[in-house]
Amino acid sequence: MKQKLFQKLKKEMLSNENLPLRKGTNNLVIGEGSLNSKIMFIGEGPGFWEDKLGRPFVGAAGKLLDKLLDSINLKRKEGFTTGGSKDEVFITNVVCYRPPANRDPTPSEIAAFQPYIDRLIEIIKPKVIVTLGRFSMAKFLPGTKISYIHGKPYQIDWKERKITVVPMYHPAAALRNGQIMHQVQADFEKLPEIIMKATKVEVKQMHLM
Ligand code: URA
Repeated sequence: MKQKLFQKLKKEMLSNENLPLRKGTNNLVIGEGSLNSKIMFIGEGPGFWEDKLGRPFVGAAGKLLDKLLDSINLKRKEGFTTGGSKDEVFITNVVCYRPPANRDPTPSEIAAFQPYIDRLIEIIKPKVIVTLGRFSMAKFLPGTKISYIHGKPYQIDWKERKITVVPMYHPAAALRNGQIMHQVQADFEKLPEIIMKATKVEVKQMHLM
């Protein structure tokens, strides 16, 4: 079922010629990982390698993200799967085509992709969303500053469900600044406990059955 919904979403995105940023790109980068993930990571937008390979976070920032995921035993699988393991993640971005010369996505570009990203969230139904950088943070926690709130869990109401949002610095920022690198590493260390708490309700319910 999830697979079908995902394929339909992807097909619609591919056939939408009005989607901004599409011109001159090589690939739609819709995201990858398990559609049954409890944890979703949302970044900014594809860069050079992501556009070339059609996969999110495969360049330098992606290599760091892989290390950070590895450090807390979270698993990232290539392509899309329906793996049910609780440590699998899904990774996407607020825009799914590469902005020219890796510039920041504009508000109208982000708005054009928003219905699709929202549908992706609806298909996956994550318990925890980790935002990477200020653009995806602003989607869930507008009007705040990443330096104040990074690494802290915020429970939000999302289409009649509760989602725990954890804003994090973008890995590319960590690669540029040693202090941010330390903060990102420390924030990742806190993630397992946040994930455990956010998924606990489900575990309790399962025990009652
Ligand atoms: N930076 C992002 O925000 N997303 C990617 O997919 C790659 C780099």
